[in-house]
Amino acid sequence: MIKRIPASYSAGIILSYKCNASCLHCMYACSPKWRGNWTSEKGLEHLLSILKDTIQPSPLGPDYIGVNHGIHFTGGEPFLNFKLLLRATEMASYFGIPSLFVETNCFWCKNKKTTREKLLALKEKGMKGILISVNPFYLEYVPFERTKTCVEVSREIFGVNTLVYQIEYYRRFSQFGITGTLAFEEFLKLERGKYFARNVEFFLMGRAPYKIAEKLSVIFPRFKASRFFFESCRPPFLRNWHNHFDNYGNFIPGYCGGIALGNWNNGRELFGREINTTEYPLLKYLMNEDMKGLFKYARTLGFKENGDGYFSKCHLCTDIRKYLSSSGNYGELKPEEFYLYLED
Ligand code: SF4
Ligand code: SF4
Repeated sequence: MIKRIPASYSAGIILSYKCNASCLHCMYACSPKWRGNWTSEKGLEHLLSILKDTIQPSPLGPDYIGVNHGIHFTGGEPFLNFKLLLRATEMASYFGIPSLFVETNCFWCKNKKTTREKLLALKEKGMKGILISVNPFYLEYVPFERTKTCVEVSREIFGVNTLVYQIEYYRRFSQFGITGTLAFEEFLKLERGKYFARNVEFFLMGRAPYKIAEKLSVIFPRFKASRFFFESCRPPFLRNWHNHFDNYGNFIPGYCGGIALGNWNNGRELFGREINTTEYPLLKYLMNEDMKGLFKYARTLGFKENGDGYFSKCHLCTDIRKYLSSSGNYGELKPEEFYLYLED
């Protein structure tokens, strides 16, 4: 059956994968090692002109934000290129994009004055809100004082359109009286290890299975590959919300770092375009035969199942893709650097 690129009513625009941090859980394997390759203004104009027809506002209205509505500018860390972020905001406003927000790890919030100046400048260009990332992996790179500064000033400027993801960690860091940065191992000691994932959302995909689950095998058991052959992708692989559009032109389904369904820079008709399984053979397996199909195909090319097992379906999926990307050239395994920096 023909599958098509789903029209997205909410989207993340990855301006670059370059980041000041290299978080252990990063779904997109971002780090300072990536080349910047920031999305060009021309590219942004093209992308926004496509998205303007499908993006839906928050149920509260276009001046409010929500993680699964509107558009967010993200990375990598978008504040590494503030000039582009300003311009992107201006362009999104020009196209009438509702519920626009930016996602940040707050590394740049050294004091209230500069934080206020930057956020006000964004607001003037049409930015509606901000999503502030908080968890123990960012804490390894960003002093907690900067996160607090960002939250405080953002609430002053964006009011209710200040989302703290995840507020539970913000509460715990405050309760522990954390200052400065903290190594993940030290945080685990504070949390007595097994409580670190309590009451929070945590996805075992991207770097996480390699860099975190390894350290926490008490919490996360491993399973044989066959356990995941028919398990559904959660959230679904083909979906019409919260897809990502990166600086290389890749349409990335959901949070599936390293997979491209197509190229948004390739003509005006993106949504509804047939997913080309001749050009992208691995997608054919994922879409029609699920993980069993991809696994069997990889086996014919020499992929060997990890005898220690897998933490999640996404772990198995990423492991297979990592193997295939090192042994062939697949148009759907993009960007290539994802596989290069996955375990870095
Ligand atoms: S999770 Fe965010 S801050 Fe951490 S490396 Fe990835 S993009 Fe950077
Ligand atoms: S198993 Fe693969 S395709 Fe499915 S959600 Fe995980 S990374 Fe995406």
